[in-house]
Amino acid sequence: MNRSKVVVITGASSGIGEATARLLAKQGNKIVLAARREEKLEKIVSEIIAAGGDAVYCITDVAKVGDQEALAQRAMDVYGRIDVWINNAGLMPLSLMAEDRVADWDRCVDVNLKGVLYGIHACLGMMRKQKSGHIINMGSLSSHQTGMACGIYAATKFGVRAISETLREEEAAAKSEIRVTMLAPGMIATELPQSLTTQEGRDGMQAAYDALAIPAESVAESIAFAINMPENTSINEIIVRPTAQQL
Ligand code: NDP
Repeated sequence: MNRSKVVVITGASSGIGEATARLLAKQGNKIVLAARREEKLEKIVSEIIAAGGDAVYCITDVAKVGDQEALAQRAMDVYGRIDVWINNAGLMPLSLMAEDRVADWDRCVDVNLKGVLYGIHACLGMMRKQKSGHIINMGSLSSHQTGMACGIYAATKFGVRAISETLREEEAAAKSEIRVTMLAPGMIATELPQSLTTQEGRDGMQAAYDALAIPAESVAESIAFAINMPENTSINEIIVRPTAQQL
């Protein structure tokens, strides 16, 4: 079952966001892809259109509140409404606390946590007026667990879980008809390991991902499942990971 929806996706230039844009476009939805790398966005949008889909892109840095406001405006200008907003953009600059990588901490919080808040800021008022909408936030298994070198990343993803559950409760209380979903993926084959900021870290993480990770399409299918449920049914969290991933 699918009605055509207008779907905004941040972090749509690669990985989970790209796979989700392609799948939801194939299902007949109108997609607004957002990220910083224009050449990637341009290519994905032209391929979606060549395949018969409907999509536009908007260059967006999610850590800038003005960029997210402009993204919402672009979706409204082109399609006149926003049905689904997916706060997906993220990075994973893992490090030990004692490494004292303050710039990495700042970037992680700015993109993974404030980027989600700015996305909510950009779309919630309009969805309230519309009396419908669906906000999907990208958490992680690290929304539930942490470990060495994961402290800051897990803090942002625990935060995404807290924000998602709070938003769900508030919107239910307000009877706004806005649904809230958080995805909590395990190891998914994307460019994410390349966001570690040391060569050693990138190499180690990439090797672990090469051994275990499943395709981004598995997360895209999970997102489509939540979107395509009846409007009175809110899928609040989906944990999706490789069958062989132990932790
Ligand atoms: P990718 O690195 O493939 O994709 C990350 C996306 O985020 C890119 O499109 C990138 O685009 C975008 N991005 C990064 N910084 C910004 C920014 N400041 N403004 C706008 N866009 C930005 O990784 P994934 O697809 O894996 O990551 C997507 C989400 O999934 C993240 O939130 C990640 O934490 C989460 N996740 C991933 C898991 C995995 O194993 N892959 C596991 C659990 C969660 P650009 O550089 O063009 O701006």
